[in-house]
Amino acid sequence: MVDLKGQYQKIKFEIDEAVLNCIESAQFIQGPQVKLFENELAAYLGAQQVIACANGTDALQIALMALGLQPGDEVIVPTFTYVATAEVIGLLKLTPVMVDVDPDTFNVTADIIEKAITTRTKAIVPVHLFGQCADMEPIMALAKKHGLWVIEDNAQAIGADYTFASGEKKKAGTIGHIGTTSFFPAKNLGCYGDGGAIMTNDDDLAKKIRMVANHGQSKKYYHDVLGVNSRLDSIQAAILSVKLPHLNSYCAARQAVAEAYDAAFRDLPGVTTPVREPKSTHVFHQYTLKVPAEKRAGIIAYLSENGVPSMIYYPVPLYKQEAFKPFWGERADLPVTEQLCQTVMSLPIHTEMDEALLQHIAQAFKNALKIELQSPRYSRH
Ligand SMILES: *Cc1c(COP(=O)(O)O)cnc(C)c1O
Repeated sequence: MVDLKGQYQKIKFEIDEAVLNCIESAQFIQGPQVKLFENELAAYLGAQQVIACANGTDALQIALMALGLQPGDEVIVPTFTYVATAEVIGLLKLTPVMVDVDPDTFNVTADIIEKAITTRTKAIVPVHLFGQCADMEPIMALAKKHGLWVIEDNAQAIGADYTFASGEKKKAGTIGHIGTTSFFPAKNLGCYGDGGAIMTNDDDLAKKIRMVANHGQSKKYYHDVLGVNSRLDSIQAAILSVKLPHLNSYCAARQAVAEAYDAAFRDLPGVTTPVREPKSTHVFHQYTLKVPAEKRAGIIAYLSENGVPSMIYYPVPLYKQEAFKPFWGERADLPVTEQLCQTVMSLPIHTEMDEALLQHIAQAFKNALKIELQSPRYSRH
């Protein structure tokens, strides 16, 4: 699905030098590389503050902890997302209120969120799924009206731009009160291990976030609140400083692949190519198609036999996962998420894809669809 080795080869000299310098300095924890990268990322995003941490899941948890929410407080979260987004809410004994998403963009909307607001609602966690922003302006207006916090889960859309009605543009992750991201290797800005970061324009929140991420201490050995230990290694920060200047070209490479796929799949019967949110650019963490539910397994099997990987993000709605049963109970299904879990599939997309590979994958997908339309391999049950 990705080509991390090919990407590394192109920047090997700089990366190797940065890693070796870091090892030689022996400042493995909280070395100057971490602060430097935080500042560089803040400048790139136009965020007041960036706080690095150990991974994108921690980033979400720390953000929620910094808001001082109380057990039982409700946090609205899309159910069509990676587990981490909702997991941390439950882990903190807050109540994840899982909502459906828009069938075209796969993202939550203000209209969907509004219906789920109760007197116990304290926060919203929109996810910028697959690489494009949820429509944030109405979400922020709704949050303001109801006095709610907004944490953007920006693990998949770092580098995307959102345009407000006024024409003002902001980077994904800098629109809500807090934004979070992940530097997991396969993410659009990936390090060579685990990493994450938290963004905010609120200096008070930034202080709390730093404190929570560092054992709740504001001064060494003085602990004001219960915190966690969540740090970005100096080596990972050094790697990210090398990669950040390439992020825009990485986004452009992914966009070019997406456009070529779009063109190849434009008129295929039963296939829906990714619909763009008009107010956001799309940085294509994933290229996700919708195909007929009864054909999907056959298409994936054909692709696999022809050496083309594909993935289903995500096969099961979060509320159907055993871990979320206590929060969901016997409530009715969310129809859009149910439908998406049966129809979506993602094709390889990355920064190192050449024309030949792209055409090979596109042709294999077209062949798979044709064969499935003629004689489906799996019948529906
Ligand atoms: C990857 C991801 C996370 C978690 O990031 P980790 O660094 O793996 O902990 C959270 N939310 C979403 C939407 C993600 O894609």
